[in-house]
Amino acid sequence: MPKYAYLCTSCAKKDYCVKCGKWCGSTKHLARLCSRCSGSFDRCVKCGKMLTNSNRVPAVLCNNCGFGSKQNYCVKCGKSAP
Ligand SMILES: [Zn+2]
Ligand SMILES: [Zn+2]
Ligand SMILES: [Zn+2]
Repeated sequence: MPKYAYLCTSCAKKDYCVKCGKWCGSTKHLARLCSRCSGSFDRCVKCGKMLTNSNRVPAVLCNNCGFGSKQNYCVKCGKSAP
């Protein structure tokens, strides 16, 4: 089961890639975390703020950053995140 990365509402720009900042359009991929980084999955991947159900926004990748197997890598450390 992959763990997905989240952003707080102040860091999240709707539909913009968490990696390169490009607009994702209709082809979005959910950003993942590896098992090591997923320990902090309840924190914003950008600013580290504690997340609650009301301020968490899924981090997404654009078609370029999340294409094919690229979406299987941790958005934080770049390691494989199956
Ligand atoms: Zn991107
Ligand atoms: Zn944040
Ligand atoms: Zn990681």
